[in-house]
Amino acid sequence: MAVTRTLAADVLRGQDPQLADILLGELDRQSTTLQLIAAENFTSPAVLAALGSPLANKYAEGYPGARHHGGCEMVDVAERLAVERAKTLFGAEHANVQSHSGSSAVLAAYAALLRPGDTVLALGLPYGGHLTHGSPANFSGRWFDFVPYGVDAETGLIDHDQVRTLARGHRPKAIVCGSIAYPRHIDYAFFRELADEVGAYLIADAAHPMGLVAGGAAPSPVPFADVVCATTHKVLRGPRGGMILCGADLAERVDRAVFPFTQGGAQMHAIAAKAVAFGEAATPEFAAYAHQVVANARTLAAGLAAEGLVVTTGGTDTHLITADPAPLGVDGRTARGRLAAAGIVLDCCALPHGDARGLRLGTAAVTTQGMGEEEMVWLAALVGGVLREETESPKAREEVRELAGRFPPYPG
Ligand SMILES: *Cc1c(COP(=O)(O)O)cnc(C)c1O
Repeated sequence: MAVTRTLAADVLRGQDPQLADILLGELDRQSTTLQLIAAENFTSPAVLAALGSPLANKYAEGYPGARHHGGCEMVDVAERLAVERAKTLFGAEHANVQSHSGSSAVLAAYAALLRPGDTVLALGLPYGGHLTHGSPANFSGRWFDFVPYGVDAETGLIDHDQVRTLARGHRPKAIVCGSIAYPRHIDYAFFRELADEVGAYLIADAAHPMGLVAGGAAPSPVPFADVVCATTHKVLRGPRGGMILCGADLAERVDRAVFPFTQGGAQMHAIAAKAVAFGEAATPEFAAYAHQVVANARTLAAGLAAEGLVVTTGGTDTHLITADPAPLGVDGRTARGRLAAAGIVLDCCALPHGDARGLRLGTAAVTTQGMGEEEMVWLAALVGGVLREETESPKAREEVRELAGRFPPYPG
């Protein structure tokens, strides 16, 4: 019942039945459909408990031992613990755990290292770059001069030759590596060497794979990048939020870029929940989880390819898969709609070739539920059947409900 209490649905029931219904309705949605959104996961009841704790009441501008508010004795301990756990988990000299989100972490990283108008090299948005990597709709595209690199149209892999040529030609102040849709490991050593050659900072935006890194299932950017930005809520399975890792030499600049430059008071309930998640991520169980996430993604990718979808790069090294459903006679948007009707929730994404949208899937959430490769084989077949319209959506919806019921994200 820990979750019910954390959701506070029983508290709200008497006081605000309208909100109680929304919370319970969302719990029901998450429990009866399959979450294949690559950026999502199920946090533990302990993380939810920290998020719903009285730490949410506390104002704490500044850093432990140097706050602008009184009464920070307990939250100072919480933040120091989160910082120490993050440093140990990722082998970093410095950690800032105050970023409210992944985007806020990237904003602070730019603020620490760049001036408006500086040139930055990053993966272009059509190839899986994030909004903060130079979108004209985002501060990044407005305030910096972004030069996009791409992926090879045939292989879907980052075009290292192009990155090198662009870096030598443009002499950027920073190079960003990291993506919302790249299914393969990033060659951080390549980017480090290139950054050194052209005198650029290397910023790794590892929002997606950082949980795999914590579990030893993906290479770490920490030894290579000047600054690593990450989210804590994706594979890492913590609360919604961001963090920044860097060397001792940049610690002060990064801290000042977070507060007071881009943020106000720290969200102490989220920071406490990050500490809980870092503690969980340091366990052998989490390492096993991270490896299972990858095994599940590889099996799901192979299954989707067998169903006729074109899997970008031919597979995956991570939790993330992108695929083109066109050979089955549907575009990405139609496919997403059909799958949603069956209770399979996922995203559309850009594809390296052409203008059509593809599908983006991830295995972090279903693996947390305890699903394994057997379920991934089954799932790929169901996706194929639904997209070819061989399986009627009410029947598929029933099968999904049955599977989800066997793997409840929050038992009890
Ligand atoms: C998810 C993500 C972000 C942004 O995280 P938010 O918490 O949604 O702001 C930034 N960069 C990359 C590469 C991401 O995958």
